[in-house]
Amino acid sequence: MRAIPHSSRVPFLLFPAAAASAIGPIPAAHAQPAPSQPNIVLIFADDLGYGDLGCYGSPTIRTPHLDRLAREGVRFTDFYAAAPVCTPSRAALLTGRYPTRTGLTRILNPRSQDGIDADEITLAEVLRPLGYATACIGKWHLGHQPQYLPNQHGFDYFFGLPYSNDMVPTPLMRNGEVIEEPAEQDTLTRRYTEEAVAFIQRHSERPFFLYLPHSMPHVPLHASEAFRGRSPRGLYGDVVEEIDWSTGEILATLRELGREQDTLVVFTSDNGPWLIKGNDAGSAGHLRDGKGTVWEGGMREPMIACWPGVIPAGRVCRQWASTLDLFTTLLVAAGGQKPRDRIVDGRDITPLLTGTGAMPRADAFHPFFYHRAEQLEAVRVGNWKLHVGRDLRPLEQPELYDLAADPEEQHDLAAAYPEEVQALQKRIRWFQLSFAPAPVRR
Ligand code: MG
Repeated sequence: MRAIPHSSRVPFLLFPAAAASAIGPIPAAHAQPAPSQPNIVLIFADDLGYGDLGCYGSPTIRTPHLDRLAREGVRFTDFYAAAPVCTPSRAALLTGRYPTRTGLTRILNPRSQDGIDADEITLAEVLRPLGYATACIGKWHLGHQPQYLPNQHGFDYFFGLPYSNDMVPTPLMRNGEVIEEPAEQDTLTRRYTEEAVAFIQRHSERPFFLYLPHSMPHVPLHASEAFRGRSPRGLYGDVVEEIDWSTGEILATLRELGREQDTLVVFTSDNGPWLIKGNDAGSAGHLRDGKGTVWEGGMREPMIACWPGVIPAGRVCRQWASTLDLFTTLLVAAGGQKPRDRIVDGRDITPLLTGTGAMPRADAFHPFFYHRAEQLEAVRVGNWKLHVGRDLRPLEQPELYDLAADPEEQHDLAAAYPEEVQALQKRIRWFQLSFAPAPVRR
């Protein structure tokens, strides 16, 4: 194999069997035209682990509504949050851009003076001109000073916390106004749900974008009385089961209003479980480590998408995708186009959602970069993942893992595949040389 020239060899080795078969024969363009302008419900859990839903193998947490959503839609096995902690993950979700491009690489806190720049374009800001009513109900965490709140970044309506539920003074806000401080957290998930249902009811006659970033199951854990003490998994399980109930309420509302068929519902989470919290933390299942790290457990998340009539029921997608891609994909579904005056990292992954059409051939070589704060610590292309940094420091020896054979990241193959190591290092250098990171916003 060494005799094969480097340049011709690497692409084939970076072309994993799974991706090759999924790309396979290229069918004609999308078989079904999408219904015009679906409603969009984007549910974003906080610190939920890869293994915390029934349909992702949890033995103790019951999530019948999310399991049903997965049966009626598509479930991704290799879906990533774009950062292993809250603020950068949310910035990436709402802009489709890596946090190093927006400067939102660090966790904002109640002393932060900074937030999302006015020049950034959020998903709400691109959907609103397309006729969408927009709401953010839940945790924002992209700046709590007045100019950074959701109403200044495309959302018609905001109800929720400006930052994490473990940060004081924990104000509960409606639009720009503090209505409760500290927020009464036992009823937070229930109240988010009531607000979400009311928003859907108010806007059922026009397209709407409901962004529902739950404050839970981030610690401190709180659940309504109706859910406390129910789960064999303890309070953490109660909290996730209430989020599952919440999802069921939203789906029931869509059904009652006759909007189920023209609504795209997406469920995922911002980062992996906060393992140092012991029993109050979730589980990354078989994946290594959790929140704050670029091991798979820190960034790989459950992801379910359902859109009856467009996304066939019961699919499982094993190609990787990320929250970066949701910006572009949801925008395209709404009839919009990516902003052209800046780099948007997210791809249109409609073919992965629907199973019809195909991603462009070059997509087999598309990289996903794992960052911790400003540091690029790993890259994935196909099923190869190369770690080049850890704990914010460069690794002396890069580590290479085959995520298809070894999703647990236990067997470093760097010594056996030096050409792949070099090729992936080259991808990292190209990316790093391609732009100057934005100043850190804190
Ligand atoms: Mg989080």
